[in-house]
Amino acid sequence: MQTRRVTILGSTGSIGRSTIDLIAREPERFPVEALTAQSNVGLLAEQALSLKAKCAVIGDESLLPELRQRLAGSGIESAAGAGAIIEAAARPAEWVMAAIVGAAGLEPTLAAVRRGAIVALANKESLVCAGPLVMREAALHGATILPVDSEHNAIFQVFDFKAPDNIDRVILTASGGPFRTLNLSEMREVTPAQAIAHPVWSMGAKISVDSATLMNKGLELIEASFLFPVPEDRIEVLIHPQSVVHSLVSYVDGSVLAQLGTPDMRTPISVTLAWPARMPTPAARLDLAAIAKLTFEVPDFARFPALNLTRQALQSGGSAPTILNAANEVAVDAFLNGRIGFLDITRIVEQTLSRVPSGPLGDLAAVHEADGTARRYAAHLIDPTDDDRVVRVQTRGRNRR
Ligand code: NAD
Ligand code: MG
Repeated sequence: MQTRRVTILGSTGSIGRSTIDLIAREPERFPVEALTAQSNVGLLAEQALSLKAKCAVIGDESLLPELRQRLAGSGIESAAGAGAIIEAAARPAEWVMAAIVGAAGLEPTLAAVRRGAIVALANKESLVCAGPLVMREAALHGATILPVDSEHNAIFQVFDFKAPDNIDRVILTASGGPFRTLNLSEMREVTPAQAIAHPVWSMGAKISVDSATLMNKGLELIEASFLFPVPEDRIEVLIHPQSVVHSLVSYVDGSVLAQLGTPDMRTPISVTLAWPARMPTPAARLDLAAIAKLTFEVPDFARFPALNLTRQALQSGGSAPTILNAANEVAVDAFLNGRIGFLDITRIVEQTLSRVPSGPLGDLAAVHEADGTARRYAAHLIDPTDDDRVVRVQTRGRNRR
């Protein structure tokens, strides 16, 4: 059996742990080059030791002594800091799982892309904040980007890349999150604990909140527009609370192809890990007779304005999606820390998007500039006493594409 050397960026997270669950079942087939995490040093060391990784990197530099101590005598290399995570991604692994959360995952992902690796992309924010750049670098360096996000992984499985003209529409399904049936005044009162208790999927805190606002589906709309050769106005969102139909592609002849499965991320991860082959996984088998009923509904754009905001950012192009993503990261963090209410998240994103001028997204410097400006602007909206006011926001002319 062909071996594939792997690196996992964000190995301690929800996707990272599901990935490890798969590779640990076939350790000879998937030798581990590097594992990285931000702060969970105990789990990182445990994973590195049990998988005999060559290298383990912790983002928080203050935790390096503890990492060294935990790995003492194992021969596993260790390092710390954001730069060391990028270096870990640049090490020679054929397959890299990009599962860091947020725009922090962009540069490590790019480092793997620039080596021409197979990049299993869970970190949707890197495509949202720098899609044109990531796709351009992938083409330039011969990297293969395989989508891990369940919807995009589903589309990837049923999309006829040889004849994209035959595709009429791409339909992204959305569970609708935990607040699908709440009215606006009920949504105003929800707590972070309620928001991260997703009805179907068990995921990291940030994506769980994104699922509750439906910003996640909006980010996925942007993600899909970079991954698949389909214009934005042919990508739709459909609410499907059971999360069994993971997405659909409709063809000009009226055929609709979909991928179905129980909601378990090990299935889409396995598709990328074994690609272009398939491998068995322990995911529960789908029993449609037991489920009996699958339901679908149109999204409510009034209660979930994130869907329109993201489409607007995608239509504006340039750095507008970068700005939207950065504002969302700041707002979700503030919500999780009890500093703002649930409905404030999309309000802050909306205000940041409308006030911070967008421009062309030529290179990484432009991404950092737009991301930083949007973060400062959103932080100011959350706390006006935070006086790191972005003067440029007011003085620079609007520059929308
Ligand atoms: P998580 O919060 O559970 O894990 C995040 C991982 O990234 C952890 O290992 C953490 O240590 C690391 N990390 C966090 N901040 C970092 C930083 N600044 N620098 C370096 N590393 C950092 O998140 P998750 O749910 O596993 O999601 C990871 C990514 O996958 C996200 O982009 C998310 O949108 C996407 N995704 C997740 C799921 C899911 O089911 N969990 C599904 C689809 C897509
Ligand atoms: Mg998804």
